[in-house]
Amino acid sequence: MFNDRVAVLATMHRKEEAIAPILESEFGLKVQVPTDFNTDRFGTFTREIARSGDQLEAARKKAFAALERVGGDLAIASEGSFAPHPSFPMLPCNREIVILIDTLNDLEIVGESISTETNFNHRTVSNYDEAYQFAMKIGFPEHKLVVIDQEKILKGIGDFDQLKAAVSSGKVHLETDMRAMNNPTRMKAIAKATLDLIKKLKHCCPECGTPGFTVAEVKRGLPCSWCGSPTDLILVSVDRCSKCGFAQEKISEQKADPMYCPYCNP
Ligand SMILES: [Zn+2]
Ligand SMILES: [Zn+2]
Repeated sequence: MFNDRVAVLATMHRKEEAIAPILESEFGLKVQVPTDFNTDRFGTFTREIARSGDQLEAARKKAFAALERVGGDLAIASEGSFAPHPSFPMLPCNREIVILIDTLNDLEIVGESISTETNFNHRTVSNYDEAYQFAMKIGFPEHKLVVIDQEKILKGIGDFDQLKAAVSSGKVHLETDMRAMNNPTRMKAIAKATLDLIKKLKHCCPECGTPGFTVAEVKRGLPCSWCGSPTDLILVSVDRCSKCGFAQEKISEQKADPMYCPYCNP
């Protein structure tokens, strides 16, 4: 279905380094990055431009904008978000999605990676010592920094002299630069989301053969292994084909660890 086709990848932050090699070798497609394609207009991490719509919507918009720009019928885009972990608010959490849109076959498939492995962080510092400490903590200089003061935003700060100069004026705000090319940890997360996309693309509908036959819905209530009460863990997952609607239910045979039980471990 994808062999020998050209997929346009909407990025200006070198995400092709994480996405293209795996997709090209797995499906025989050719990934093309449009030149002068400004993805910042869809939102920036440094907030000069707010993201339009939610994460998935933003990725979709990028993919269609790339198709509009270069033509073709196959597009890939990715979008990341950083937020406190839903269960452990002290831990920042990185969600990356990689979307594939195939207008020829009317397909949209989304790969995803959710991880607490991120250096996402910020701090206000008033001298180079404090800046240096923060820089060491976030994996500088492989991971670059953004320096924000009253007048300007300096992005992609990646060596100690630059950092020293940037904080010389007194109090500044430091942020991790989350753009993929300046953040190897994020680049890895994008590669993981791409692998998830590949897994979904390989899973085809048993009825019509369309790729992307994956979990569309879950029902919770896996019984506790001690008392049998329903827990919040997944009991049934339903795979559904977005093309023909064929669905397959999988009921878990397992029992939940009592640590998830509202009665045994309230
Ligand atoms: Zn189907
Ligand atoms: Zn129980």
